[in-house]
Amino acid sequence: MSTATNGVTSNLTPPAGVKLPIYFDNQATTRTDPRVVEAMLPYFSDVFGNAASRNHAFGWEAEEAVEKARAQVAKLIGATAKEIIFTSGATESNNLAIKGIAEMYRERGNHIITQVTEHKAVLDTCKRLEKSGYRVTYLPVKADGLIDIEDLKRAMTDQTILVSIMIANNEIGVIQPVEEIGKLCHERGILFHTDGVQAVGKIPVDVNAMQIDALSLSGHKIYGPKGVGALYVRRRNPRVQISEQINGGGHERGMRSGTLNVTGIVGLGKACELCQDEMESESRRLSAMRDKLKAKFEANLDYIHVNGSMEHRLPNNLNMSFVYVEGESLLMGINDVAVSSGSACTSATLEPSYVLKALGLGDDVAHSSIRFGLGRFNSEAEVDYVADKIIDVVKKLRELSPLYEMVKEGIDLSKIEWAAH
Ligand SMILES: *Cc1c(COP(=O)(O)O)cnc(C)c1O
Repeated sequence: MSTATNGVTSNLTPPAGVKLPIYFDNQATTRTDPRVVEAMLPYFSDVFGNAASRNHAFGWEAEEAVEKARAQVAKLIGATAKEIIFTSGATESNNLAIKGIAEMYRERGNHIITQVTEHKAVLDTCKRLEKSGYRVTYLPVKADGLIDIEDLKRAMTDQTILVSIMIANNEIGVIQPVEEIGKLCHERGILFHTDGVQAVGKIPVDVNAMQIDALSLSGHKIYGPKGVGALYVRRRNPRVQISEQINGGGHERGMRSGTLNVTGIVGLGKACELCQDEMESESRRLSAMRDKLKAKFEANLDYIHVNGSMEHRLPNNLNMSFVYVEGESLLMGINDVAVSSGSACTSATLEPSYVLKALGLGDDVAHSSIRFGLGRFNSEAEVDYVADKIIDVVKKLRELSPLYEMVKEGIDLSKIEWAAH
């Protein structure tokens, strides 16, 4: 890919009430809700006890707050409080679930099934297990981002102990058929772990209806604080066992030692309660805004397309390719809007997103892709401004694009023999 960038900018001014920069990257993290911050504040100072101190009121008060939060988290996913283990975030939850189950059930089998579009916290954990003798199947996805249930069935063997498939993807927002996956797993006595980070709090999740055995979630993706998360671990039908990955004082039923982050846990609990109360109206509002953004692009630009299924998708996500535009130039042209691109910046190279490549997108198209993650604190006026701005910049960039010129003239790019260089 060329490193030359066209310095195209747009002179659009934001409407009254819209403050720049605009945050449209709510799949990366979310702003902590002020009501969550308020709930947390006393636990930095007045209520500072160690929740494991059993001998005095300081400890009891902290423990009470932790147990309240445990119930709030459990309620949001249809679990019981005892099934919630607090962690430092979903990266840890994914590690704990996958490594902990793999170790505990090693005598039953050594095979794990996951899919290629998982978060790195799942993929890299599986790769690590491969080094210690486990066999891992990475299921492909179809062009719409969904796994093929028949592929899953075929991959299951009598050595399979665990299936780890996320509910919703963080780049394309595609929702997997978790209910069907859970059913298949339970029919065969295989445990089902799911990375629920992007789904919990955004769409209804019920660990019993979906037959989930372990579920990872994270505070900072649901308007709670960073550095706190949870792992749901099923206690009945079946009782799931997990071998601890951090040794110490035996906190969290021995599954995760370490003094509890009381303040963070209180925040996570409050964040879950707010999601529970507001999910329905919030998702209606965000999906209407998301659909408006998409409609504006489609009314004003050609050669654009949505990545991943629109039907099976989070209400707040849109991932679009603006073909014949260089992603980096587009991002530079909209530098007052925070979004993610289909390029994952690694140390030296611009690698196209492995999720988009798994859908079958070429490198160029993947590089021209943008993820829009709408959230609780976005407004419709922001959607209008962002849409107009991107349309303006894409049009200007395409005026400078020889490829776009050729396509408009009816030249079939796939038939051209490019000079070697
Ligand atoms: C953000 C994210 C994670 C990691 O969560 P942390 O709490 O930041 O460690 C894992 N999985 C998915 C799908 C995510 O979006």
